[in-house]
Amino acid sequence: MADNIIAMLGSSRLNLSSLPTVFLVSGPAWSTQALVSLLFALMPAVAVAQAPTPAAQYQNRRLIMVEDQIKARGVKNPDVLAVMRNVPRECFVPESVRPQAYDDHPLPIGFGQTISQPFIVALMTEALGPKKNDRVLEIGTGSGYQAAILSRLAGELYSIEIVPELARSAAETLRSLGFRNVTVREGDGYRGWPDKAPFDRIILTAAPPEIPQVLLDELRPGGRLVAPVGVGVQKIVVVQKSADGKTTSRSLLPVRFVPMKKETE
Ligand code: SAH
Repeated sequence: MADNIIAMLGSSRLNLSSLPTVFLVSGPAWSTQALVSLLFALMPAVAVAQAPTPAAQYQNRRLIMVEDQIKARGVKNPDVLAVMRNVPRECFVPESVRPQAYDDHPLPIGFGQTISQPFIVALMTEALGPKKNDRVLEIGTGSGYQAAILSRLAGELYSIEIVPELARSAAETLRSLGFRNVTVREGDGYRGWPDKAPFDRIILTAAPPEIPQVLLDELRPGGRLVAPVGVGVQKIVVVQKSADGKTTSRSLLPVRFVPMKKETE
């Protein structure tokens, strides 16, 4: 078939050279050549349309993730769903697991740590309910993905990570993607972040046996804390601090998070 086209082109060129100029422009032989050239010119565009770029493929998978894994399980907050559709999760996982970035489970991020399942990120974000001007503290930066999601919904996001390499690489990922309202610090979340306290919202993404008092103290009256709590079987707990400083808590669902380590461990 390709040979035929080349042969056709060859023969029409021969004919064209012997024809008067006027005919060259408007005659049927020229039209055939123009048509074939046009077809060739269009071919790359057709090829691009058929094979979407990796970014477009990830975007597509992100939309499916939100529908099938997150909305289908009851997360409703439209702002949470919107950021989950927008933040490129594939940029936060190691290259080796990038093709699985939108799968329905946690993924390894090195140093024995994991990035949470997308549904759990969305559920905890919805439960935390950060508002536009809130100052939020996260314990356990990990890959930086949860921090990225929260930073789009809050005013300022502060995140503490105990593994120095993870703190550095998360800060770099967030910086390179333009998340300017996030500050990552290497350190032990059990010590809180006194310089930046109080916080309107606090989220833990590593599980302590019980909620550290220092973090409850750094929560502003009227604020909220969300954490996986327990040893072995953990539960996501939502703590609400009333205007007069009293706390009430409720449990959401059983989960399995990495344990929150102490600096000496
Ligand atoms: N939010 C992360 C998930 C992180 S997994 C993300 O979106 O990728 C939990 C993280 O908590 C791990 O990176 C672990 O190193 C960190 N961590 C564990 N104990 C900690 C502590 N005491 N202080 C701060 N970070 C801690």
